[in-house]
Amino acid sequence: MTASETTLLSAPAVLAAAWREHAFAREQVPVFGDLAAPTGTTYEHFRDLVPVTRKPDYRTGFPTRVVARGADLAAPDVLMSHSSGTGGDRLTSVSRLYDLSARQETTMRTHPTFAALLSSISGQRVGRYAAPNCSDVECANPLTTIADRTLRDGTLVLPVAHDLFTTPERMVRQALSELQEYRPHWLYTDATHLSFLITRARAAGIDRFPGVRAVLLTYTRATATAKRIIRDFFGPSVPVVEVISMSELGWVAMECPRGRMHLNAESFLAELRADGDGPAGELMLTTVGDRLSPHLRYATGDMYSRYGDACPCGATSPSVRLEGRASEALHGVDGVVLWPRAVDEIVGAPDGMLAYRVHQDEAGDVEFSYLPMADGMPSDEPERIGAELANRLKGRQVRVRESGYLASQRSGKYISCTSAYLVGDPR
Ligand SMILES: [Zn+2]
Repeated sequence: MTASETTLLSAPAVLAAAWREHAFAREQVPVFGDLAAPTGTTYEHFRDLVPVTRKPDYRTGFPTRVVARGADLAAPDVLMSHSSGTGGDRLTSVSRLYDLSARQETTMRTHPTFAALLSSISGQRVGRYAAPNCSDVECANPLTTIADRTLRDGTLVLPVAHDLFTTPERMVRQALSELQEYRPHWLYTDATHLSFLITRARAAGIDRFPGVRAVLLTYTRATATAKRIIRDFFGPSVPVVEVISMSELGWVAMECPRGRMHLNAESFLAELRADGDGPAGELMLTTVGDRLSPHLRYATGDMYSRYGDACPCGATSPSVRLEGRASEALHGVDGVVLWPRAVDEIVGAPDGMLAYRVHQDEAGDVEFSYLPMADGMPSDEPERIGAELANRLKGRQVRVRESGYLASQRSGKYISCTSAYLVGDPR
């Protein structure tokens, strides 16, 4: 008996492909060499036979144990990527470029306008604005030039400090002038990073980034506040779309024009694994057709819940709510769990707020700190947010604090909801 319950989100054809993945992995990838042979082909057989895998399984023994025998990692179609985690959390992965582009193409079907826009542009110029660790170029160094920071695929990595809100004025001006000069067709960016840059652009009298036709928000879960700042700046003609992309697997999910996230349940066998109460479950993915470094039932650490109805956008892929990372949830008394997404809904997108952080400390106390814009924030909003958090967390102590600075994580990511309070299995 196990307390966890898994739900299959993919169609039967994908399950059949996942069985082929299992067979290939058993034969060709040492780390999976001990897996048993299947005794049936149903999802229940798959679930009972194939153990859940996690980051450490792929980190240990990379590359020899997790890459298919005889694979040439120096081949031109192999991309090596590094996750932005810190220390022992970092992960190196390898993927075939055509697998990554197939996953991207399938994921993009969720947003036909964006997909059409992308295919209409030749010689794409992309602007990236995100934590420096998320890129393989030195973008935190102010002495570098556009040429130093332009990747082979036409992506210009804009300069930014490792700790976002400490980015010096000189670096902000450099990023803004490079945006004017390079004129990217679209931006691939962290939402909090871009909302910071937009706020600084407005202060400098800049009210548009010329040539930008779409904005993809990725790297961290986008807050309602950041989305509002970005959408206000670009206006209704520029789609602003959230994408879930993992360094180890590529594109996994994308927001549709109706604002729901849709999972790519074709390039991956997708399962949700719920532990305990509530509808949220951790997304687990099995790659399909990956003959380089297949992943089997890879637990992503991201919690999702399914919508009960079909999405009005018409896409048939499963529509889900991204609740946030399991390790970042807040815990009330009596086992109440408040996911980062629910926290974000409580905070909302109040006027005059640039960013916020809700943090639960080791003792369980919670602090809501916020960074107001230059013209300030309506005075009753912070108090409302603090009171509602305390109410939802059933009696936890919640402090409210205005701040002139909010720190990024050591990885350089800016995370709006964090927790040092460990309950049960902290992973
Ligand atoms: Zn939809």
